[in-house]
Amino acid sequence: MSDNNKKTAVITGGSRGIGRAICLKLAEEEMNLVINYAGNHEAAAQTKEECEKLGANVVLIQGDVSRMKDCEALFEAAAQFGRVDILVNNAGITRDNLIIRMSEEDFDRVIDVNLKGVWNCLKLAARIMIKQRYGRIINLSSVVGVTGNAGQTNYAAGKAGVIGLTKSLARELAARGVTVNAIAPGYIDTDMTACLSDEIREIIKSSIPMRHTGSSEDVAFLAAFLASDRAGYITGQVVHVDGGMAM
Ligand code: NAP
Repeated sequence: MSDNNKKTAVITGGSRGIGRAICLKLAEEEMNLVINYAGNHEAAAQTKEECEKLGANVVLIQGDVSRMKDCEALFEAAAQFGRVDILVNNAGITRDNLIIRMSEEDFDRVIDVNLKGVWNCLKLAARIMIKQRYGRIINLSSVVGVTGNAGQTNYAAGKAGVIGLTKSLARELAARGVTVNAIAPGYIDTDMTACLSDEIREIIKSSIPMRHTGSSEDVAFLAAFLASDRAGYITGQVVHVDGGMAM
């Protein structure tokens, strides 16, 4: 099959963690993958290599999703394949602190990357997907976007905002054959959560009904399903992958 007859997916933050797991799941379907990452060249190259081994055609694009110009570069790279079938807005950061200690800069940066970055890519994808009358958009929210969390006013606000973006755009695009859904992971073992102390980790585990943390693959299975043709009648949903933390 030529590259222009394969599906094309744009994935942000695909170099590590959940993003990499999603890239690998989509690679199993031999897609064209346009993968964004912030600056970890080594990790991005490893994702590329592993995806290519599975039969995917991979383009790596370094960029900061909070900058519209960098997001435009992603979609310009995807243009060589003639279409964008799937967008996964996965890139995200944390800068946790109690509000009295959180700097304005840390609030702004998390909102810029985790919320504005999602909006940037949604805007660019929407134009393409409306024309195609087909698209699958998956946004990474978080359990804390639903429940809130002490020490994460910036992150929880951004992730709650992602749910608002998801539902609003789902309504805008539903009649155009484009679905927009959010995934709300709970505690997933990645670099993002690796910095937590053993004590905090045990406290979190005891708050999970299943009593164990999740893996990036747990999230990737759902993302791949929501990205598939089989999920065509599901839109505007927030699906939790959290061992029962929020129900
Ligand atoms: P991670 O391991 O820290 O990886 C973050 C990814 O985002 C990396 O690929 C990183 O690129 C990229 N990134 C960071 N800032 C970026 C920017 N400004 N522009 C473009 N890319 C950027 O994170 P993760 O745990 O896999 O999380 C993935 C998503 O799931 C995030 O949206 C996160 O909020 C959400 N989530 C995670 C958990 C969890 O428990 N892990 C729970 C709920 C929700 P580099 O490698 O180049 O730095």
